Amino acid sequence: MRIVIVGAGLVGVASAYHLQRAGHTVTVIEREPGVARGASFANGGMLTPSMADPWNAPGVWKELLHSLGRADAPMLVRPRALPSLLVWGLKFLGASSPRRYAANTAHNLRLAAYSVAGMERLRREELLEYDAATLGTMKIYRDPRALEAGRQKALACAHPDVEVRLLNAAEAVDLEPGLAGIADRLAGALHFPRDEAGDARRFTESLGAAAERLGARIRLDTRATAILAGPAVRGVRTATGDLPADAVIVAAGSHSAALLRSVGVRLPVKPVKGYSLTCVPAAGDERPPIRIPIVDDALHAALTPLGGALRVAGTAEFAGFDTRPTAVRIDNLRRLLAAVLPRDAERLLAGTVLPWAGLRPMSADGVPCIGACGPTGLFANTGHGHLGWTMADGSARLLVDLVGGGTPALDAGPYSPRRFE
Ligand SMILES: Cc1cc2nc3c(=O)[nH]c(=O)nc-3n(C[C@H](O)[C@H](O)[C@H](O)COP(=O)(O)OP(=O)(O)OC[C@H]3O[C@@H](n4cnc5c(N)ncnc54)[C@H](O)[C@@H]3O)c2cc1C
Repeated sequence: MRIVIVGAGLVGVASAYHLQRAGHTVTVIEREPGVARGASFANGGMLTPSMADPWNAPGVWKELLHSLGRADAPMLVRPRALPSLLVWGLKFLGASSPRRYAANTAHNLRLAAYSVAGMERLRREELLEYDAATLGTMKIYRDPRALEAGRQKALACAHPDVEVRLLNAAEAVDLEPGLAGIADRLAGALHFPRDEAGDARRFTESLGAAAERLGARIRLDTRATAILAGPAVRGVRTATGDLPADAVIVAAGSHSAALLRSVGVRLPVKPVKGYSLTCVPAAGDERPPIRIPIVDDALHAALTPLGGALRVAGTAEFAGFDTRPTAVRIDNLRRLLAAVLPRDAERLLAGTVLPWAGLRPMSADGVPCIGACGPTGLFANTGHGHLGWTMADGSARLLVDLVGGGTPALDAGPYSPRRFE
C-alpha cells in the first residue's frame, strides 16, 4: 500500500519504520526542516509504564481551579485558552470519574508495557543510539503519607511488566547516591526497575534513518494543508503539490485535530504545554549527577540523565498553541532542580542551559487515538499526551496491525478514534 504519514515526531517516525518494515511504501511529510522538532524535541526522556495513569484523575478539577491565576502552579490554565477548551474540557472532566479513570489507566498501561517491551529489539536490530538507560526510574517522596498513597496507586496499577520496589530513604540513596543532598528530607521512594529512559530526539533521528534505509522517504519542509478524500482517501495536499496515497496516517501531534477537520473528523486532542531545561556541562565536567531518572511527585518534576547532560522537565499549561518558554516557568524548573539536587544545581546551572517548551498532544480521556477514522483509508496515531515516548513503538506496531487488517496484538477498541463519536 502507498502510505503518507503526516508528522515526523516520535509517533510518525515510529509508524513509518514499522509500516515500511511490514512491506508498505511509506512517505512521511514534515513541515519543519528536521524530524522531532515538535513535542518530541526535548521531552522528559522517560519511558514509564509506571506512570500510565491519565492526568484527569478524580478531583482534577480542584487542582485546575486552584491553579487559576497562579503562574507557578504545576498544572495551569491560562484564562485566554479557556474558550478553546470548552468542549474538550467537559470531556476531560467527564473522564475523571473513578470508574473511567481506572479503565483508562488500564488501557494506557497495557499499551505502554507492550511498547517498552519492543524497545530492546529496536536497539538490537537497528543499533539505535539515543543515550538509552535501562536502570528504571525512581519516584521520591518527602511525606510518608504521600509515599504510602504512591505505593497504593502503584499496587492498584499492577501489571506483570511493571515491577515496583518500595525503598526507605537510606535504600533510595544507596541506589542513587546523587540524592545524598536531600537524604534527611526523604520519606522514601518507589523504584520501577523496568522503566527506561533516553533522548527522544536522537531516537527519532536514528529510527528515521533506519526507516529510510528500509526504503521510506521523509520529506522535510513540507506542510500538509488538507487530506484529499471522497468516500476513501486519495492522498494529501501540500503547499508544493498533491501526494497520492491509498492510506493516510495523521501523526501531527497537537496539530492533528485541525488537519482531520478538513475531512469532517472531530478528534478531541488539545495542546498541553510543558517545559524542559537541559543542562549541558562545561567540557571537562561531564559527571552526571544522577544515574537513574528521578521523579519528584510533589513538585511535578522529572530529572533525567542523558549522557553527560541532565534534563529537568515538567509542568503542564493549558495555553493554546503558544510554544514560547516563559521566564516564570523556566525559573520554576531551576528551583525544582535545586530542590532535588542541592549539591549539584549551581554547577549544572553554570554550564550551558537550554530552555525549551513543547506541546503534548492530549486526548480528552488521556488515552491515545490509534486507528481508522473518517473516510476509508484514513488513520490517526496521536493524542499520547505525557506518554508519547513511552508508547511510540507499541502504538506504531498496533497501527501496522490495523492498517493491514489482521487481528491486532492488543484489543484496539479502547484506542479507537471513533470512541468519541
Ligand atoms: C515537557 C515535556 C515532557 C515530556 N516528557 C515525556 C516523558 O518523559 N515520557 C513520555 O513518554 N512522553 C513525554 N512527553 C510527551 C511526548 O513528548 C509526546 O507525547 C510526543 O513527543 C508526541 O509525539 P508526536 O509525534 O505525536 O508529536 P510531535 O513530536 O509534536 O510531532 C508532530 C509533528 O507533526 C508535524 N506537523 C504538524 N502539523 C503538520 C502539517 N500540517 N504538515 C506536516 N507536518 C506537520 C510537527 O511539525 C511535528 O514535527 C513530554 C512532553 C513534554 C512537552
